[in-house]
Amino acid sequence: MNTEELFKKIVSHAKEYGFIFPSSELYDGLGAVYDYGPNGVELKNNIKQYWWRAMTQMHENIVGVDSAIFMHPKIWKASGHVDAFNDPLIDNKDSKKRYRADVLIEDHIAKIEEKINKEVVKAKKRFGDNFNEEQFLATSERVKGYQKQIEEIHQRFASLMNANDLAGLKALIEELEIVCPISGTRNWTDVRQFNLMFATKMGSVSDDSDTIYLRPETAQGIFVNYLNVQKTGRMKIPFGIAQIGKAFRNEIVARQFVFRMREFEQMEMEFFCRPGTEMEWFNYWKEERLNWHLALGIPKEKYRYHDHEKLAHYANAATDIEFEFPFGFKELEGIHSRTDFDLKRHQEFSGKKIQYFDSEINESYTPYCVETSIGLDRTFLAVFSHAFKEEVLEDGQTRTVLNLPKQLAPYKVSVLPLVNKDGLPEMAKGIFNDLKFSMRSHYEEKDTIGKRYRRQDAIGTPYCITVDNDSVKDNSVTIRLRDSMQQERVSVDNIRSFITQH
Ligand code: ATP
Repeated sequence: MNTEELFKKIVSHAKEYGFIFPSSELYDGLGAVYDYGPNGVELKNNIKQYWWRAMTQMHENIVGVDSAIFMHPKIWKASGHVDAFNDPLIDNKDSKKRYRADVLIEDHIAKIEEKINKEVVKAKKRFGDNFNEEQFLATSERVKGYQKQIEEIHQRFASLMNANDLAGLKALIEELEIVCPISGTRNWTDVRQFNLMFATKMGSVSDDSDTIYLRPETAQGIFVNYLNVQKTGRMKIPFGIAQIGKAFRNEIVARQFVFRMREFEQMEMEFFCRPGTEMEWFNYWKEERLNWHLALGIPKEKYRYHDHEKLAHYANAATDIEFEFPFGFKELEGIHSRTDFDLKRHQEFSGKKIQYFDSEINESYTPYCVETSIGLDRTFLAVFSHAFKEEVLEDGQTRTVLNLPKQLAPYKVSVLPLVNKDGLPEMAKGIFNDLKFSMRSHYEEKDTIGKRYRRQDAIGTPYCITVDNDSVKDNSVTIRLRDSMQQERVSVDNIRSFITQH
């Protein structure tokens, strides 16, 4: 199965099992907007909780806020989004399809990287056990040629992006002979800037002064509450403010399911520190955030850091944590050292002083800030796509299973009476009613036990508890483990401790 087929399967599995539906599907959908179904909302809420707890509960110096989506329009002037939150877009005149110019170039680079990977695979086959990948990469003339190409394109691309040189970007696209994936032609328009913010009107009078924006990031809601939080919480620097909430971007190209949406959710944390210490905290959060991902049990090889070529207008250092999605390594989380840019700009635009008096050094200053910003929907997709497996069993049958991290699964247990008589449903209901207070539990009577197991595998339930005819006699049940499909007999009194240990 190639990656495209796999991705299609993942998308249809998400729909079939009530995780994600296209928004407004009854009306043929709305571009890049999605709804979460009954299982999806559980998984999503569990991810939120896992992040929220890791940030607030596990750090005594991080507190939360929940700021409004609507904010004063001047905030987006101050933050730089009105003037600079743009993507360079380009159209293909034949297919009439629109692309991000930067993404076309990045994809071109990825194709060259793919050629290098192919060379490695070929060489591995040729040399067998004696193959030394590092040595091969350093010595193969063909690979060195590809690497040189990548380096040259990278350098030119970075300087064009930094200089906002739109004509230069078009020239580079033409020179690299990049074609439209739909029409296959090189008939491109000029590159133009496109602002990604959605504007709307507030109040009953519609003139320019009422124009407000749907927030394109949650971070500004934190910055404009900095003083409120610091004062009311008597927070001492260094400290952080965390927030989870919706963000909106009018993305030019919104493909790849919930990877790039026009309405999505972010989990952001702004960490305020003394000027001059920001690189230390930047490195701290870089490591801390990767560890958070790894604690989910997903292999390390699925993640990598990617330092930014082009720094955003507010940053003095930035890195992404990329994840290997079915369509390749892409950004999952951004870690940015935002300096004192945001607080200073809000001070300037609001006319209110935003300063911190640091009693340890007897000095007042505008705090510096390191941000960690992760997309909730992208995390969902990362976890979901990694968990999706089609297994061929010993008896030749196949099963689809979601090996979700246990703490994130929509249901922790499903309680299943083997048959719908002889007191089994009553006993099973009793177990369910007891467990539901401590974990998200599920109960089902319909269909054969085999079919019910398969359905629970498909939504990622780690434990199925089966009540059979012996159960009513010896007060014990069979617990079936999702990943190994092993079954164990456990006394009803020990169900909870069994689940904690396995
Ligand atoms: P990209 O380069 O992929 O457009 P970005 O660099 O603009 O992303 P940030 O502004 O750093 O993204 O936003 C922080 C996080 O928010 C991203 O790492 C991503 O997980 C998430 N995110 C950003 N845009 C979207 C979107 N359109 N849909 C879903 N998640 C998004």
